[in-house]
Amino acid sequence: MAASAAPSPSPTREPGRDCPLCPRLAGFRQEWRALEPEWHNAPVPGFGPLTARLLIVGLAPGLRGANRTGRPFTGDFAGDLLYSTLLAFGFAAGRYGATPDDGLTLRDARIVNAVRCVPPQNKPTPEEIRTCRPFLGAAIGEMSKLEVIVTLGKIAHDSTVLALGGRAAHLKFGHGADGVIGGRRVIASYHCSRYNTNTGVLTPAMFHAVFATARAYLDAAP
Ligand code: SF4
Repeated sequence: MAASAAPSPSPTREPGRDCPLCPRLAGFRQEWRALEPEWHNAPVPGFGPLTARLLIVGLAPGLRGANRTGRPFTGDFAGDLLYSTLLAFGFAAGRYGATPDDGLTLRDARIVNAVRCVPPQNKPTPEEIRTCRPFLGAAIGEMSKLEVIVTLGKIAHDSTVLALGGRAAHLKFGHGADGVIGGRRVIASYHCSRYNTNTGVLTPAMFHAVFATARAYLDAAP
């Protein structure tokens, strides 16, 4: 079912390095800055061109992945499947080397997380998800050519639907669920986490099918 509301514009497009809005996450960042001063340990910015027509929304940085390297999905298990899939469907070029200086570029695609700071045990609270949503709304709003959004996991999916001005009931989460919210095609996928892939909840073929759908929508667009 479609919802007609557009995402609300936000005057603040990117959180600052010391964003204080989630005290628990700010404290966790500080702990890891002390433990690993060479790591990123800050809100992770989006990756990919703002002119892209495809946006991929993940949950939050992994502790030893994006929180360490500073680039979404870079350096942890989930990135292996995500970036190999993006390369397979022409949404990336180069070689994924699990570091931000690997030279990989995104083509017509951008990646952001629904929650920009690493949460303990990969579990942001509902309040933290809500608090970071304006940054997600702003990230969506600044992509002038955006047509398709792939959401990875239920939390990212529901937060994206809300950021687009819809309600969770407008497009219930399920692998392959697909609908139009706020003028954008939203396609849901199970998250490409180690747990989901190791348990067979998500197979590479299932993940590829989601991006094949996204590619087909974009190729059919005028
Ligand atoms: S999760 Fe988002 S809102 Fe919360 S502290 Fe980090 S950047 Fe700020």
